[in-house]
Amino acid sequence: MVRRQGLNGDDQRMIPYSRQSIDQSDIDAVVEALKGDFLTGGKKVNEFEEALANYLGVKYVCVMNSATSALHVAYQIIGLGIGDELITTPLTFSATSNTALQCGATPIFCDIKFDGNIDERKIEALISPKTKAIAPVDFGGNPLNIDAIKAICDKHKLFLVEDASHALGSQIDGLKVGTTADITIFSFHAIKPITTLEGGAIATNNEAFYEQAKLLRSHGIVKKELWNSDMVTLGENYRLSDVACALGLSQLKRLDSFIQKRQDIAHYYDERFANNPFFTTIPIDKTKKSARHLYPILLDRSLWCSKEEIFKALHVKGLGVQVHYKPIYQFSYYKKLLGDMRLPNTEDFYKAELSIPCHQGMSMEDAVLVADTLLETLASIKGCHL
Ligand SMILES: *Cc1c(COP(=O)(O)O)cnc(C)c1O
Repeated sequence: MVRRQGLNGDDQRMIPYSRQSIDQSDIDAVVEALKGDFLTGGKKVNEFEEALANYLGVKYVCVMNSATSALHVAYQIIGLGIGDELITTPLTFSATSNTALQCGATPIFCDIKFDGNIDERKIEALISPKTKAIAPVDFGGNPLNIDAIKAICDKHKLFLVEDASHALGSQIDGLKVGTTADITIFSFHAIKPITTLEGGAIATNNEAFYEQAKLLRSHGIVKKELWNSDMVTLGENYRLSDVACALGLSQLKRLDSFIQKRQDIAHYYDERFANNPFFTTIPIDKTKKSARHLYPILLDRSLWCSKEEIFKALHVKGLGVQVHYKPIYQFSYYKKLLGDMRLPNTEDFYKAELSIPCHQGMSMEDAVLVADTLLETLASIKGCHL
């Protein structure tokens, strides 16, 4: 675990909200790949893609050097371009909508529910003749009501691009997230469900989309005979190396054990925090399984004015809490582009949310320490008088 100097001078352990888990089997896999003939463009890439496709239960996976790259490619595949609109959530990492802007499209932000996921009941009112696609996010790993969103897409002939960067291994009724949308995106950034250091992927059952993804990932160039090649579309270099894929293969073997560990911690938190006076937690529907990338808590309204104080106090005590997310439309770049906007549930969620430590590197003793420290700290905060 990360050690750091506490503000009171003693050496103190910081438990981050999420952290990678690298063991000897991962290190061995990377070392072996480093000694191989192909550091990139070799067999490990296909192997990792096949293992992912098997794990997810989808026909095709195309890995890339980040989820951001995968989002950009996905939007290019569906032909998102100038004049098009993309309905998405403001409660996400900025890449979900940035990549739509890079395609020349306009993101249309839809309000969320109090579980952090897009409110599917509010989507249809935002559809216009310019709408091309819907791009929701499985917040914290909690699966979206994807069937309801898919039905809206089918009715209005829209593409569905699911940003499942938090949700590798999440399930609905035993089916993995990634099997319903036209294209699903995963992230292998250091602290996402598994890591290739940086990395991401596209999952799809559509063969043509898969072929497009491979082209766009590698300059739009196809090999012909001998030295001859052709460039058939304008692509990028978004490839993931063999060394990274070797790490991914090793990590994927451990994914279910990672999720089990995070679920055990989340289950303990759920019970420990039931009916506490300071915050609520987000229940996961019985039909769903969350990869638990995040464990968000929602502070009571009376504590919103003290959130900075709470955040600082928890960091001083070694709890690396984080806030997910500042609404995208509040960023100055977006304000200049789209003007001022406010979505009431998103605003409230942002004021209430804190992500507390929940990851596979924690022991149950760590979880008890997190819970004790959190409850003690909140009891010492005055709160505002409403
Ligand atoms: C992390 C994240 C991304 C970007 O992932 P990278 O692999 O770092 O590019 C995109 N969307 C969401 C929701 C994320 O959490």
